[in-house]
Amino acid sequence: MNDANPPVVIVGAGISGLCTALALAKTGLAVTVVERDSPPPSGDPDQAFFEWNRRGAAQFKHPHAFLAVMSNLLQDSFPGLMDDFFAAGARKVTFEDMLPPDLKAKYTPLPGDEKMWLLMCRRATMETVFRRYAEKQDLISIESDTQVTALLSHTDGDQIVIDGISVKTHDEPERDLLSQVLIDAGGRNSKLKTWLQAAGGAIKTEDDDAEIVYFTRHYKLLPGVEEPARGDNKDRSSGDLGYIKYGVFPGEGGHFAVIACLHKEEKALHEAIKSSDQFDLICRNIPGLAPWVAADKAEPTTESFGFGDIHAVWHHFVDAGRAVALNYFAVGDAALRTNPLYGRGCSTGIIHAHLLADTLRDISDPLARALQFHQRTEEELRPIFKASLAEDKKAIRQAKAEINGQVIDSASTAKAWFNAAFGDALSMASTRNIHVLRGIMRTFNLLEKPGDFLKDKRILLTTMAYMLGGRKRNANARKVNGPARQQMLTILTNKQAQQESASA
Ligand SMILES: Cc1cc2nc3c(=O)[nH]c(=O)nc-3n(C[C@H](O)[C@H](O)[C@H](O)COP(=O)(O)OP(=O)(O)OC[C@H]3O[C@@H](n4cnc5c(N)ncnc54)[C@H](O)[C@@H]3O)c2cc1C
Repeated sequence: MNDANPPVVIVGAGISGLCTALALAKTGLAVTVVERDSPPPSGDPDQAFFEWNRRGAAQFKHPHAFLAVMSNLLQDSFPGLMDDFFAAGARKVTFEDMLPPDLKAKYTPLPGDEKMWLLMCRRATMETVFRRYAEKQDLISIESDTQVTALLSHTDGDQIVIDGISVKTHDEPERDLLSQVLIDAGGRNSKLKTWLQAAGGAIKTEDDDAEIVYFTRHYKLLPGVEEPARGDNKDRSSGDLGYIKYGVFPGEGGHFAVIACLHKEEKALHEAIKSSDQFDLICRNIPGLAPWVAADKAEPTTESFGFGDIHAVWHHFVDAGRAVALNYFAVGDAALRTNPLYGRGCSTGIIHAHLLADTLRDISDPLARALQFHQRTEEELRPIFKASLAEDKKAIRQAKAEINGQVIDSASTAKAWFNAAFGDALSMASTRNIHVLRGIMRTFNLLEKPGDFLKDKRILLTTMAYMLGGRKRNANARKVNGPARQQMLTILTNKQAQQESASA
């Protein structure tokens, strides 16, 4: 290995690639990041949002929020980065900001609450800030407009050993980039796994269809218009009407996005929501969204656009104590994915990045590194993946029942009844009791392992007490105001309602 061959090469300058580069540089390793797309344009966040061609990251235009686990890691690990985010207009949304008005009036901060915050801005802004911060680090170099075209490897006995990659730019011939460690941060469609499999690497994959389609439209508040105040629980700006899940992502400088998520078999709604006018019509008929998207409050800045074929995926790079390949590590979406509705992808990406940086710092033997990284990934990320998958399965059952006009029979066994009754009581308790909501938000923000908040006796006893209030009453807590499915379908086919909405 000579000076021209960097010890670590990362494929992909997306969120996980840049987080990995920053985490490794912090441990003193020099890193070269290879990215097929161009760097962000030199101008302001609007230029990045409207003009940056990010074909390599198909989710780029969908809104992103960073959960607390990620926001705190960024703040604690990379001095000055958070200042750069805030200077670019990103917002800190605190636990107090998330409380409905009645709970906010009773709120007294507790130690730990200060850790519960989201970072929000358009993803174009997030990536631009990350990218410029990474470019300033002495140990990181980023080669943009550079496509990886092949994986270089040899075998040692029956063990595949990775030597590097071949890369190509628009105006240079293909060349080899050798490295001691190759990190695949190429995202959901990374080709490196395919090439590894072609070289004989047996990667086992778990793949579960989340059965959803995810739609977004971006808007900007009209000059002089303030963001709507947070509504009470029934009129909140994110919720679930059974057949549609929705949410507002406030961004920087008056920009915000609305997302709407449907089961993929909601054919009529799916067809409708593809049209920007129908997207608006749906939003204007949901009380939690109407104050945001009314024609005298905001104007759209994009059409509505969707993202389908959403799967929960987990690739296994170690099997029965054997590494599929040495010197190869996959992080972020290239290794695992969860349903974007939970907003966990970037957070699991940065956790993964740090697990890898720690492993490479502490261990030099290639096989021991692979096994240790695998073990730490299983310990830290597997519970998040499994919890997300369980939520997907539950949501699929509910959405299908809604489409078929059925009610899920949660009384089929005593266990099913208890689980459903407990879930309803927990929902009700979280609307009335800050301590219960705090526990749920800690899990949501990945500040602790999924479900750990239920080890808190106070939360458990409070929830049990709410169970005594009866299932019917508790089940109401989940319901937000808005048209029932059939009503919404009627609205979408009623021309007069459409015209009224257009002028609303
Ligand atoms: C609709 C939607 C909404 C989401 N919302 C959220 C959210 O709110 N919060 C959250 O945390 N997560 C969210 N996610 C998940 C999040 O987008 C991903 O988990 C995250 O972007 C993964 O980062 P990554 O770096 O692993 O991959 P990516 O961000 O996809 O980056 C991969 C990079 O690799 C590059 N690349 C690929 N192949 C090559 C090659 N051959 N040569 C060179 N470069 C290559 C690509 O150009 C790209 O830059 C959402 C996902 C979707 C689909």
